[in-house]
Amino acid sequence: MTWLFFAIGLVLGSFFNVVIWRIPRGESIVFPASHCPDCGHTLSAWELIPVVSYLIQKGKCIHCSRRISWQYPVVELIAAIGFAYYASRGLTWPTLVTKLVFFSLLLVAGAIDLKHRKLPNVITIPGMVIGIVLALIGWSVPISASLLGVTISGGLLMVIVLITKGMGMGDVKFVGLIGAFIGPWPALGSIFIASLMGAVSGSIYLFITKQGRKTPIPFGPFLALGALIGSEFFL
Ligand SMILES: [Zn+2]
Repeated sequence: MTWLFFAIGLVLGSFFNVVIWRIPRGESIVFPASHCPDCGHTLSAWELIPVVSYLIQKGKCIHCSRRISWQYPVVELIAAIGFAYYASRGLTWPTLVTKLVFFSLLLVAGAIDLKHRKLPNVITIPGMVIGIVLALIGWSVPISASLLGVTISGGLLMVIVLITKGMGMGDVKFVGLIGAFIGPWPALGSIFIASLMGAVSGSIYLFITKQGRKTPIPFGPFLALGALIGSEFFL
């Protein structure tokens, strides 16, 4: 069961990479088939094998030698390890499915924000709706908690964003998504954990480089991590 889900995570991780690459560029996630963004060479079946193909090709396109981002094997491995971890915990099917959907959304949104400094609506809004639907059919938190999660946690972050101007509306919708899945208090806990991690990382960055950042650190990856930790502690 665990290894099966490890394999499923690898394959889905490969799909997540396509989503992470194409969504911020406004491209379709279905067409065309996976190809090298530089020379346009369409990837053959063996080049689509997660992680393994990256290692065989030594991280380069076999046609034009363009470097393939290490994001690809890393996202595939994180997805595989996450899927295996949740599958190994003996959860009921509804809880397992909910956790896997939540984890996948956090991974994709966090990676897009890390790379592109944006949290696209096409991820956060459908994600929020999925969270509410899963609560409605009784697969996650009670529906009241899910709706309060969207409104209270999302609303609180909106106030913070309006006051500090340090984050954007993408972060607000992302917190709404988190609240829809885990309810208001765990979502607030996630924001708190994310803020702590963000502050610590910012200080370390400042200490190492001895200079401030001109561009702000994206908050999405910290929110994703905070929500993963939060969902383990509070649920
Ligand atoms: Zn190429």
